[in-house]
Amino acid sequence: MKKHNFSAGPCILPQSVFEQASQAVLNFNNSGLSILEISHRSKDFVAVMDEAQKLAIELLGLEGKGYKALFLQGGASTQFLMAAYNLLEKKAAYLNTGTWSSKAIKEAKLFGEVEEVASSKDKNFNYIPKNYSVPADADYFHCTSNNTIFGTQIKDFPTTGGIPMVCDMSSDIFSRKLDFSKFSIIYAGAQKNMGPAGTTLVVVKEDILGKISREIPSMLDYQTHIGKDSMFNTPPVFAVYTSMLTLRWLKEKGGVEGIQKLNEEKAALIYNEIDRNPLFEGFAAVEDRSMMNATFNLKDEKYKDLFEDLAKAAHINGINGHRSVGGYRASMYNALPLKSVQTLVNVMKELETQA
Ligand SMILES: *Cc1c(COP(=O)(O)O)cnc(C)c1O
Repeated sequence: MKKHNFSAGPCILPQSVFEQASQAVLNFNNSGLSILEISHRSKDFVAVMDEAQKLAIELLGLEGKGYKALFLQGGASTQFLMAAYNLLEKKAAYLNTGTWSSKAIKEAKLFGEVEEVASSKDKNFNYIPKNYSVPADADYFHCTSNNTIFGTQIKDFPTTGGIPMVCDMSSDIFSRKLDFSKFSIIYAGAQKNMGPAGTTLVVVKEDILGKISREIPSMLDYQTHIGKDSMFNTPPVFAVYTSMLTLRWLKEKGGVEGIQKLNEEKAALIYNEIDRNPLFEGFAAVEDRSMMNATFNLKDEKYKDLFEDLAKAAHINGINGHRSVGGYRASMYNALPLKSVQTLVNVMKELETQA
């Protein structure tokens, strides 16, 4: 039977997407060919890429605002360096909210000065720093909207006074309504909320490019990919196709606004139980709790085996916390049904009864 999959990534996708993607592996668009064997230059695949890019821009509310959507490879981890390669002339400002921000900072330092405007490392990244300011002489400001490992999420983005804002939205892209036009670059590895591993969505405001003095290798230059409509080299055909199917599904669900309601409902359900149940405690600061990744612990480790056995019996998968936090993490991406969260909450209640 299908498990309740709380995995942090790669993660659950809509069942209908799994079915359509499998069908396309066997016979894509009734062409007598598999999606895995057609040319990326074929009319059918060019239409897929085109639709995926259009849907991404449309769902983010960025139509006609000078943005281009790219489907690249190398994961969000390559964007850590690619953003700096393309934008960092002298100095960049970074907000450090966890493992992924720290990795982005490490890469940016290869290209210039990095000013860490604030960090929550003092408390193992269990909160989002506030009341920092972005230096006026920075080439750009970089932040991570949702900290997948620690379960914190930025609710209010800073005003940057015209400094381009670059955001790693790998684990909450398309999950909530934001004014996405505040950002100059948004990037997200597909495997958290959009598709299978293998492609990274990069949404770039075109007018911020071309201002740097260094030469950029073709593959790492956003302008190369923009100029070739994300087809400079062979794109990850299957990952782009499956992402496109998920974006179609999202549009049918009422887009970002529609899914946000469901995500709020799921998050309220789990956090209410974490707060109510005397056996559990949350990890992240309450006001910064992520709607996507709920991190929590057992107050008493002696219930560990019983809790995990009950979870297993209820067909729950993927709730172990990241090694740097421990405890548990329930990732509740767009495609996770409400029923899965109800099942987990029932297991938490059952533990209380049996303990
Ligand atoms: C998973 C994750 C990454 C790393 O993504 P890759 O595609 O594996 O490189 C980066 N940032 C965030 C916020 C993530 O959740």
